[in-house]
Amino acid sequence: MPQVVVEPRIRGFISLTAHPEGCAANVREQVAVARAGIPGHAAGHINSALVLGSSTGYGLASAIVACFGYGAKTLGVCFEKPPEGDKTASAGWYNLAEAHRLAKEQGLTFQTINGDAFSPEIKAETVRALRDQIGPVDLVIYSLAAPRRKDAQGNIWNSTLKPIGAPYHGKGFDLRNEAVTESSIDAATDEEITGTIKVMGGEDWREWITLLRQEGLLAPSARAVAYSYIGPEVSSAIYRRGTIGRAKEDLERTAHEIHALLDDGRGGGAWVSVNKGLVTQASSAIPAVPLYISILYKVMKAQGSHEGTIEQMVRLFRDQISPGHTPEVDDVGRIRLDDWEMAAPVQTVVEELWDATTTENLALTTDYAGFKTDFMRLFGFGVDGVDYSAPTEVDRPLV
Ligand code: NAD
Repeated sequence: MPQVVVEPRIRGFISLTAHPEGCAANVREQVAVARAGIPGHAAGHINSALVLGSSTGYGLASAIVACFGYGAKTLGVCFEKPPEGDKTASAGWYNLAEAHRLAKEQGLTFQTINGDAFSPEIKAETVRALRDQIGPVDLVIYSLAAPRRKDAQGNIWNSTLKPIGAPYHGKGFDLRNEAVTESSIDAATDEEITGTIKVMGGEDWREWITLLRQEGLLAPSARAVAYSYIGPEVSSAIYRRGTIGRAKEDLERTAHEIHALLDDGRGGGAWVSVNKGLVTQASSAIPAVPLYISILYKVMKAQGSHEGTIEQMVRLFRDQISPGHTPEVDDVGRIRLDDWEMAAPVQTVVEELWDATTTENLALTTDYAGFKTDFMRLFGFGVDGVDYSAPTEVDRPLV
């Protein structure tokens, strides 16, 4: 079995390697937060959950809260790279290897289907796994973040991160050189807008829920939740008013359609939860977002309101979506976990610091160090207690 000293190989907003022990330690930390944050069965019982996009970011945190917080039989679907000889797997694979191991050790059920969640084949495999092993689910979490989708008809759609109507000229951040830049991004074409909606909008979520309903795999009063983002004015040209914002609007509209299918007057339904901006593999790829997040971290840590993915998901499950709770929603029906991020005392300071930040004063006006630490941790690097000079087993199975 290959024992390797694993070092980071960063290329822009990705590391080509991942550290198995570091990823495992991250997962153990999240499990501890989930257990501490969920006050036993008083919080409501979730028998079983399906999490689409379960290996990293918000989906991983959701699956951990469902399984280790609520004891739910949890089936995850994700798209990760397995280890190959002495080459490491992707971080999501190692996250799940540890989540599976811990679940087994604790007598819990945590299973994974690794493959393209957009494809009819993986949907069919999921249906079989639910039918044969888990049963109808109480909760379906939709947390996919993907650059492209091959739809059921075989068309390939690409997601882009571009402004709509006019080009973007404004602050950006070059992760390679750690420099604040003036960036320009061309306005999206109609085709790029459509593609982004096809990949990140609600169509695939609707396909999943329709299929699960047809197959009798939604438990009575089942709930479905998908994740969205709004963000601040400084990123709105690229995010909320851009191509990805159009996709999120489509996702939010789809929540109303699915809600109408699942609302049984006894708690069933579908919602979008607008989550906080955080460092994940998906968010690091969005122009200007690493800079915004670095400033946001600085302000929220100073004001004592900073949360990570696991704290956000504990709050979502405990206060909003576990049985017995009626989600509190805004005027268009969305759960707002970004309430602390968007609070005026946070955003006022963020805007001042956004204008003031330059490459030279980055360390003063932002928490770029915090961004970088979280970014490296996504791949299992820089985690306390891990000996990075020691060879480690990279061939870890998902058992
Ligand atoms: P992420 O990159 O950490 O996770 C994406 C997940 O999707 C992974 O599990 C990956 O394996 C899976 N995936 C990607 N393509 C797939 C495919 N074809 N088939 C199966 N699985 C696939 O992303 P994230 O930031 O946690 O984003 C999840 C959701 O949360 C997205 O809808 C995102 O817009 C939303 N969100 C993110 C933030 C943020 O700041 N990160 C904030 C609010 C909302």
